[in-house]
Amino acid sequence: MLPSKTGKLFVITEPSVWHLHGSAVQRSLGSREYEVLFFRGGEVNKRLASVEELAEQMVCRGGERSSAVIAFGGGIVNDVAGFTAAVFMRGIPVLQVPTTLLAQVDAAIGGKTGVNLAAGKNLVGSFHQPLAVLIDPDLLSTLSDRELRAGLYEVIKAGVIRDADLFQFLAHHSTEILARDPAALDRAISDSVRIKAEVVSADEKEGDLRRILNFGHTFGHALEAETAYARFLHGEAVAFGMIAAVHLALLEGLLAEGDGRQILDCIAAYGRIPSLAGIDARAIAQRLVSDKKTVHGRVHFVLPNRIGSTVVTADVDGAHVLRAIGTALGA
Ligand code: NAD
Repeated sequence: MLPSKTGKLFVITEPSVWHLHGSAVQRSLGSREYEVLFFRGGEVNKRLASVEELAEQMVCRGGERSSAVIAFGGGIVNDVAGFTAAVFMRGIPVLQVPTTLLAQVDAAIGGKTGVNLAAGKNLVGSFHQPLAVLIDPDLLSTLSDRELRAGLYEVIKAGVIRDADLFQFLAHHSTEILARDPAALDRAISDSVRIKAEVVSADEKEGDLRRILNFGHTFGHALEAETAYARFLHGEAVAFGMIAAVHLALLEGLLAEGDGRQILDCIAAYGRIPSLAGIDARAIAQRLVSDKKTVHGRVHFVLPNRIGSTVVTADVDGAHVLRAIGTALGA
């Protein structure tokens, strides 16, 4: 998988992930020359300073143009290690080995890497396609139920935007999936990866098609920003965002009531997200405008028009947006 002339490998990981699963990586690397670099993890550390620190360590430990990075961790490690690889010596290869469900079905696929600025999430980054993405569902055995559910919301997203069969599978097998039945989880992961890969390969640099992957993210990012990235996991914010988007699609007359109900029920079947008490709908609406996906000051919403299909539109009624947020906050 790695080109034969690849030099020293740098495994970038979090201490806790390495403690749990590092031995599996060590076994598969065998006698290859590699160094393990630790990154503290967490959104607060997903910053340029960490990239600089990792790059300095790579130079000190013999990193050069022929080196490669193995990103071994959740989405935060995938983003930071991927970005480090993208800029180290103007770019070296990266192998993504995601260890959370969210990273396996989303963050590690598609080549987006980056870090946060004080001004907002993922505002500095680069497209840097990995050499390969290695997904081992066994790594998820140690993931908390809450983190698993956060990833499953992204799987629901994949079904809603592009695959009615996957959606129906998720709607009817929540018990097995939440119980981590290997066959059910395998199907959920492989279908989501296929969908993301199809969309991204048709539209690598986020034109119109890739935008459908942002279903739930416009409202979700606003919720994360409004709560200082401290109250909700990313997947939970996406679940809130999908609920708001479904209500907006219903208010706009784009989605049939029955389809809307099915999507809301499916999200609910995967568990409630933490309390939304005290969050102001107007503040969320205000945050939408500063989302980096805003085009010329107009917010583009990804709205389902039936299960398995979406439309992208900026042409919505502002009062409907506020009502949809209010309903989702009270949902
Ligand atoms: P994360 O990387 O913080 O991981 C969540 C938690 O799980 C961490 O505490 C981590 O230590 C722990 N963990 C990781 N693997 C584990 C395992 N196997 N067992 C037990 N614990 C484990 O968060 P995440 O949800 O994986 O990723 C979120 C990040 O991904 C966000 O920063 C988001 O912006 C980014 N993201 C990027 C893209 C993209 O296209 N680049 C897409 C979606 C999300």
